Amino acid sequence: MPPHPESWLRVTPQGLFCEPGGFFIDPVRPVERAVITHGHADHARPGHGAVLATAETLAIMRTRMGEAGAGAVQQPIRPGEVLHQGGVAIRLAPAGHVLGSAQVVLDWQGSRAVVSGDYKRQRDPTCAPFEPVPCPGGCDVFVTEATFALPVFRHPPPEGEVAKLLKSLALFPERTHVVGCYALGKAQRLIRLLREAGWEAPIHLHGALASLCRLYEELGVPLGPLAPATVANKAALRGAIVLAPPSAVQDRWARRLAEPVVAVASGWMQVRQRARLRQVELPMVISDHADWDDLNRSIDEVGAPEVWVTHGRDDALVHALGLRGIRGRALHLVGLGEEDEGAATEAAAPLADGEHAAGHGLDQGIDRAAVHGGEAG
Ligand SMILES: [Zn+2]
Repeated sequence: MPPHPESWLRVTPQGLFCEPGGFFIDPVRPVERAVITHGHADHARPGHGAVLATAETLAIMRTRMGEAGAGAVQQPIRPGEVLHQGGVAIRLAPAGHVLGSAQVVLDWQGSRAVVSGDYKRQRDPTCAPFEPVPCPGGCDVFVTEATFALPVFRHPPPEGEVAKLLKSLALFPERTHVVGCYALGKAQRLIRLLREAGWEAPIHLHGALASLCRLYEELGVPLGPLAPATVANKAALRGAIVLAPPSAVQDRWARRLAEPVVAVASGWMQVRQRARLRQVELPMVISDHADWDDLNRSIDEVGAPEVWVTHGRDDALVHALGLRGIRGRALHLVGLGEEDEGAATEAAAPLADGEHAAGHGLDQGIDRAAVHGGEAG
């Protein structure tokens, strides 16, 4: 009888710990050995001894944290490669979240756990698509996030959201369109979507986005002509697209642009109250996380009899799993969901108080009326 993953994959204050392998997955504090799923700051933290990750994730970590911060020993693992640590077989499978993002597949004594990190199923021209790793055994576990695990969250096709931005540019050719988007993943995906939609002009970048865009290009993701968004050169930015971190689009920096149209690209833009509180004229529902349907579809495709939920709306997901005869367990991992579309980052923006109010609304359950219904359909 293979051991249940509960006996060898434990929740500790630092994060998930694989005991026989002696390593943590996405630990929130510096540890001796870490396996990192992707480069967002809430998963990839500085100061570990040995770091195992995809070559792309290691490159992202070096860009963000410097050579020293990315781990004293950095070990890239190739797609399909299997490594052994303390009798545990480790391999990575694509997660479709951002460039280099991976699920960690662990096999020990006939028992399998798949730790998916953050993931999505929508097409993303900047990274490899999510690959469901089937769990055929009798005591296997799929570990999932639950950022958007409420039935109201249904992400529309991103191409339609990009079309809204281009339509606004056609209607208001004298206004600068500034789009709030996260520096890692969202910005590059948005640029590629704009190129696919035929936008060939230079796309202007806030300084905080430049280095990761450069890295994506170095790693083989072409982004077309990019230029710095110099506010001093206000006239040149009329009718242009400017990408900036979500926190920058509401502050003085953005107001110095020419009659800015403020857009934000985030899964949270489906919550109308949030878009309004953040004074977003053009909410674009583009998410790098799975929505309700895709979370449930992924769980079904993996087919594990037991699902552990790391963070997010674990209550709703665990309940839905129970109805299908799948054992769900909320891990309540701390420190996750703080970058990309995690609520905590959104709250870090200037409208923190308002965000808090919106957050309470969410906690009490949002009804359909609070959500942009058109796309949610
Ligand atoms: Zn992430």
